Amino acid sequence: MDCIFCKIANGTIPSTKVYEDDLMLAFRDLDPQAPVHVLMIPKTHIASADALTEENASVVAHIFAMASKIAAAEGLHNGYRIVNNCGEDGGQTVQHLHFHLLGGRSMKWPPG
Ligand code: 5GP
Ligand code: ZN
Repeated sequence: MDCIFCKIANGTIPSTKVYEDDLMLAFRDLDPQAPVHVLMIPKTHIASADALTEENASVVAHIFAMASKIAAAEGLHNGYRIVNNCGEDGGQTVQHLHFHLLGGRSMKWPPG
C-alpha cells in the first residue's frame, strides 16, 4: 500500500521516533507547528477518524493513554493540544489516522 505513515510505521521511511510499542508509533512532525509537534499513529492502517468503528477504535484509547506520558516526557507540564484533522474540510493531508500532539507555546482558539 502506498501510504507514507504505513511506511514510517514499518521503517521503510525514516522518522524521529519519540515512542513506539506494538500498537502505535509517535514521531516528530517534519514541519513542526509548535516547539513540540509529535504525530501519534496506529501501526495498522486506518484511513481517518471517519473510518473508526467498534472493531478498530480501541487503538485510539491506547494512543490517548500514551499521549499523556509522551507529553510529560516532552516536558509539556503546562498543557498541550491534541488535534485530529479528518477529511478534506478537516484539513487532512495524509490518509492514515494520526493525532497531532502540540505544545511548548500558548495555543489559539478557534483554529483557522
Ligand atoms: P494532516 O495535515 O494530515 O493532519 O497532517 C499530516 C502531517 O504529516 C503534517 O503536519 C506534515 O507535516 C506531516 N508529514 C507529512 N509527511 C511526513 C513525513 O514524511 N514525515 C514526517 N515526520 N511528517 C510528515
Ligand atoms: Zn497507512
